[in-house]
Amino acid sequence: MTSGTRETFNRALAKASELGGMLLVQRDRGDGRYDVTGSHARAYLVQVTADGEYRCDCTAGSFGRPCKHQAAVFMFRAAQLAVGIAPATVRESDADVRARLLDESRMNIARHGAEWDRPARESWLGEEAVTVAA
Ligand SMILES: [Zn+2]
Repeated sequence: MTSGTRETFNRALAKASELGGMLLVQRDRGDGRYDVTGSHARAYLVQVTADGEYRCDCTAGSFGRPCKHQAAVFMFRAAQLAVGIAPATVRESDADVRARLLDESRMNIARHGAEWDRPARESWLGEEAVTVAA
């Protein structure tokens, strides 16, 4: 599950736009999964579920943050809709649902943990904590 502020979503969209927007989508697998060009010449996997949840396996995405890969897929799907193509969504298997729920629980635990350990987290992350807040 990806969550963020209007600003972090806009930043992801701006980054994706700078790098080619929907052209970053290398391949639409046709089942709600997309291979998206990333840095370091590797592709990331973005998945969109029927309820509109975006997921990406890049670092930001694995922390549930908006990223340029998800933004590129968002643009790609918006373009499909504009020409009357219904974008596909991922049909989750029971195993996928289980894994997703487990991930989301872990993320919630991590978030609450982050609140409890805020001073420690800021000292571990240093600069990054400042970047995230900016
Ligand atoms: Zn990503």
